[in-house]
Amino acid sequence: MRSSFVRVLLIGAAGRMGKAISGLANEDPKIDVIARCDLGDPIEPAMRNCDVAIDFSHVDATTEICRAASQDHKPLVIGTTGHSTEQRSTIEKAAQSLPIVFASNFSIGVNVLFWLTHKAVEQLGGNFDVAIVETHHKMKKDAPSGTAKTLAELLKATRKTASEIPIESIRKGDVVGEHTVIFNGPGERLELTHRASSREIFARGALCAAEWIISQPPGLYSMKDVLGL
Ligand code: NAD
Repeated sequence: MRSSFVRVLLIGAAGRMGKAISGLANEDPKIDVIARCDLGDPIEPAMRNCDVAIDFSHVDATTEICRAASQDHKPLVIGTTGHSTEQRSTIEKAAQSLPIVFASNFSIGVNVLFWLTHKAVEQLGGNFDVAIVETHHKMKKDAPSGTAKTLAELLKATRKTASEIPIESIRKGDVVGEHTVIFNGPGERLELTHRASSREIFARGALCAAEWIISQPPGLYSMKDVLGL
């Protein structure tokens, strides 16, 4: 029988997101972070005793996380961004036998931005040029951000085009994360902007995804699925 709380293995625990998730989990009676791993820690033994693993670390950890989770049949929540095509296919392959939530952005607001962007393209049609501007803190390792790449993929799919969407990446100060989708039309311009002011929005979404994924069948899910958007 499953215990009344969700036992979480947190990977990347010493990082900015790891600390934000630990902080929120401490206040949540439904969550118990039973193990914390960071760079150099073995993942396999910690994986064995958890109900779900949450990864906000680095793409270099992806192969080992997927291998350990597959071995013990543990669901995954993957928030790390910047994966290569090969690393993404490792995640896709693992999702054939495991339930995995893989999201470039765990905030509710950004997932509504994805939905609004889709709607805007449908309504504005092909006469509008689109571009994305994203701004993050100077310590962020990947560029463009995972969220900007998701927005670009969504725009390409909705516009039914293979043409790349221009993305401007700005790295400055301690900006948690800002994304703007710009629609430039003849004589008018529409901008959709999301500004994150706290990492708690991603941490809250990741914990919500962890509670949701443990009762799902194998497959690759996004926050759209978790939120029912
Ligand atoms: P960070 O650099 O502050 O923390 C990363 C942590 O992972 C560090 O403690 C580091 O030591 C550890 N780490 C590095 N390599 C590791 C490995 N091989 N195994 C285990 N641990 C390892 O970064 P952060 O701001 O906390 O972000 C972490 C990741 O999450 C980044 O990829 C970032 O882009 C992503 N992120 C995603 C979302 C989202 O909503 N999906 C939101 C914020 C950040």
